[in-house]
Amino acid sequence: MLRFAPSPTSNMDIESLRVAIFNYIVAKQLNEDLVIRIEDIDQEKNIDGKDKEILEILSLFSIDYLTAAHQSDSLKYHQKMAMQLLTKKKAFSCFCGDAKLKELEDEAKENGKPFVYDGFCQTLSDEAVLEVNAPFTVRINKPEENIKFTDILKGDFDVRPDEVDAFNILKHDKTPTYDYACAVDDMLMDVSFIIRSEKYIENTAKQIHIRNSLSYTKEIKYAHLTKISNIPNDLNSVKALIEEGFLPSAIANYLVLLGNKTPKEIFSLEEAIEWFKIEDISKNVTNFDIEKLRFINKKHLEQMDEMRLSKLLGFADLDIGKLGKIYLEEVSTLKELKAKIHTIFEEKTTCKGFESEFIKLKTCLQDAPYYDDFNELSKYITNETRLKDESLTKPLRYLLTGEETGPDISNIYALIKNYLGEIIK
Ligand code: GLU
Repeated sequence: MLRFAPSPTSNMDIESLRVAIFNYIVAKQLNEDLVIRIEDIDQEKNIDGKDKEILEILSLFSIDYLTAAHQSDSLKYHQKMAMQLLTKKKAFSCFCGDAKLKELEDEAKENGKPFVYDGFCQTLSDEAVLEVNAPFTVRINKPEENIKFTDILKGDFDVRPDEVDAFNILKHDKTPTYDYACAVDDMLMDVSFIIRSEKYIENTAKQIHIRNSLSYTKEIKYAHLTKISNIPNDLNSVKALIEEGFLPSAIANYLVLLGNKTPKEIFSLEEAIEWFKIEDISKNVTNFDIEKLRFINKKHLEQMDEMRLSKLLGFADLDIGKLGKIYLEEVSTLKELKAKIHTIFEEKTTCKGFESEFIKLKTCLQDAPYYDDFNELSKYITNETRLKDESLTKPLRYLLTGEETGPDISNIYALIKNYLGEIIK
């Protein structure tokens, strides 16, 4: 079982999408299921509706999964297992208040050492615990031995007991801490392989220690993905990228390509399942390259079925799909293509430098019979207006496309000729 565990606390970002994609691919390769676990136990940070939005994004990227669960629904299991740990003396009730913990922290800081819990409450007898009438947290005992694990990308880790420490697993309100909920859920969901961001490598020993304490012996494989840097702030969320006109298929293609050795440059996720190797992903920070993403997006638009492209542009006409493809000579995103098409249909009032020619041409075109072929139309206009060379070509292109330069006008005419009434208005 693989899992993708997003928090509904912000917009889904590019790195998080990359984690989802890799989990999806590897699950398919291993013929295992993928579950989505919405990590919503930090109630204060949750943003209403983000859970649904994350699932919508996953479906937009055709990332299918077995189930989607909310972590907060497992509270009773988190508490039950904490009780087990308390009974087996693998965890203890901790009454240390914030002031005392702050004192310990300050002391450690002064001595230039990391904070380590002094173990005071672990020494309290059961009788003493029963007598205390104060709020408490539940802390897991410090491990007795080093915690060792191997990460497929980052190598071997050997973490000392003091680095893991005796840490809280239940807070004062008896809700689980992040590491505890995560470790228990990975166990309950029978997760065998965890692919996630490198920022969680620090949590891994703690999570292994929790499972060890619960006598869970199944080994979980890890791959912590190195950061992507230089993502422009305004493009960091998946939503923003889509709004900018990048296709999900192109974004997915780019994220699999980034810092990777792939047999080809342009591919679908389904193809990537055939050859993707998680161990080949770069261990170094990779830079986000918007120009590369634009290039890939253009390639995906070029390969797209013309009717589908037309629908994405707001039409259901093969010709508009073809027109979109012609304009890919100039632009790379759906948003830019839409702007081009919009400009064609926008009302044009004059053409700079050719004001009188523009009026003449407009009237002529409005009265012109229908011509299938651009050369025929051109001949007719020349006859009617006596305009030639630049005085004809410049305002004519402008009237037909809303721009002074652009792709071959006869190719464009062939695709917009049925819309002249709307274009020349
Ligand atoms: N909830 C974490 C996140 O949104 C992921 C934690 C994990 O994968 O273990 O990044």
